[in-house]
Amino acid sequence: MNFTNNERMKQNRRHFLKLSAMAAATLAVPSLLASCTSKRNRQSNANMKLSWTPYDLQLNHTFTISGFSRNTTPVVLVKIDYDGLEGYGEASLPPYLGETQASVIEFLKKVDLSAFTPSRDMEEVIAYLDGIAEGNTAAKAAVDIALHDLAGKIEGTPWYKIYGLDKYNVPDTTFTIGIDTDEVVREKTREALGRFNILKVKVGGSDDKRMIEAIRSEIDLPLAVDANQGWKDRQQALDMIFWLKEKGIVMVEQPMPKHDLDNIARLTEESPLPVFADESIQRLSDVERMKGVFSGINIKLMKCTGMHEAWKMRQLAQSLGMKVMIGCMTETSCAISAASQLYAGMDFADLDGALLIGNDCFDGATLENGKIIPSDLPGIGVKPTTEISFGR
Ligand code: MG
Repeated sequence: MNFTNNERMKQNRRHFLKLSAMAAATLAVPSLLASCTSKRNRQSNANMKLSWTPYDLQLNHTFTISGFSRNTTPVVLVKIDYDGLEGYGEASLPPYLGETQASVIEFLKKVDLSAFTPSRDMEEVIAYLDGIAEGNTAAKAAVDIALHDLAGKIEGTPWYKIYGLDKYNVPDTTFTIGIDTDEVVREKTREALGRFNILKVKVGGSDDKRMIEAIRSEIDLPLAVDANQGWKDRQQALDMIFWLKEKGIVMVEQPMPKHDLDNIARLTEESPLPVFADESIQRLSDVERMKGVFSGINIKLMKCTGMHEAWKMRQLAQSLGMKVMIGCMTETSCAISAASQLYAGMDFADLDGALLIGNDCFDGATLENGKIIPSDLPGIGVKPTTEISFGR
């Protein structure tokens, strides 16, 4: 049988609406999405075609965290063409995480999606991607995001609806202030005034208290702090956390070195503030052993291979009674919008990545009253703002 695009969309939508009510109740969405789109996919003979392009993000400010400083972040943008639709994805590659534009492209050259159809084979195609090579989590995330964009576009629906989430039920995003001189810290703090309801301060440098005092001289908003493993002594870390609590800090991210789990567990137990894992956790298989060590986990698409696994991590962590937050790298609105689809109902959010760059090339999720709100476009909810030349 031949269907026009419109007829197919309508037919899929009827299946989809019936199933999405169930999805909202169980949160077991991807498999339901898979079943509701299988009819359309069986009728299509199209192949998914993957292409990509390297791109360098220009940071608005030199960014310093405990141990590193930089002005640009390399990314690789990807596109999957399928049956007249385009799915977009992105790998963001901060240098300290080990992946490069060259390693991502080398990985993408090994990816052959021709045997899969989008949506129906989501579980299978994600497992296939993961099996191509160890690591390469950002490269895998780029393809995962593009697959989700495509699957949502086939449904004509944004993913937050597929997940059964309320897109406005989201935590305020933090705006990140890196380790810097008092003058720059004050300037960045003023930049955030009126736009954000919570700031995230990078600590773990030589003079954390000075940074906090500089910010406090400008604003009294709640603050999160991220030590990026920078505190080496548990008692000093605990003393600092008690001091921070007095200064209106509401949470602490990765206080100590990532493998020092025994000390972190004791610190968390004694800490008056919730303590979140970032560098200590990458993927779904790490979640269970974080219980009892940290209060919560920071889920980032680039660490965990994308939306498919991020959703599972969120579900598992919450079922274990842990808090969850969504984080990001410096990324365009492509990857930020993907993350924005799945974080409603989380405890904290750090989704300022696209707001820190001067050359975003996508429209997507936007900052509204201090929150990152996904658009209502289908898929991950993005549109390129400029002609992007993808190739292989
Ligand atoms: Mg962090």
